[in-house]
Amino acid sequence: MRHCNSVFSANDIWFLQDRDGLTKRSLYLALCPICNKNMALYVHFDLKTNEWYEKYYYSGGVERIKSRLKKDLLYTKLGFKNKFRAPWGFVWGDNREIKRKGKITGIKQYACDFFGNKIPVKIIQNE
Ligand SMILES: [Zn+2]
Repeated sequence: MRHCNSVFSANDIWFLQDRDGLTKRSLYLALCPICNKNMALYVHFDLKTNEWYEKYYYSGGVERIKSRLKKDLLYTKLGFKNKFRAPWGFVWGDNREIKRKGKITGIKQYACDFFGNKIPVKIIQNE
């Protein structure tokens, strides 16, 4: 990204789903390290014209473009997910005891993520 005659990388990148013949859509987000301005760079490739499009947004415009594109958000570089229901990103295991009549009969392992998704991956039965 460019501002104040300097080139720097984005703090985060939003990967967006294809829409209306537009593909490879992404939104780059950064703070200019020189002037500290909040910036966004929206990029897509237009299959009809065969051309790349890029547009910079600043300050209040950043929040406006973010709220406009939020519905198409698939995932971000920093790991926020919007649409995937299975655990995604940083996943850890969670073990739960299976009790029957007050007795532990097995362990159920779940894969969990930071977004509250949880799927059972393995059930270990003692009996
Ligand atoms: Zn700047």
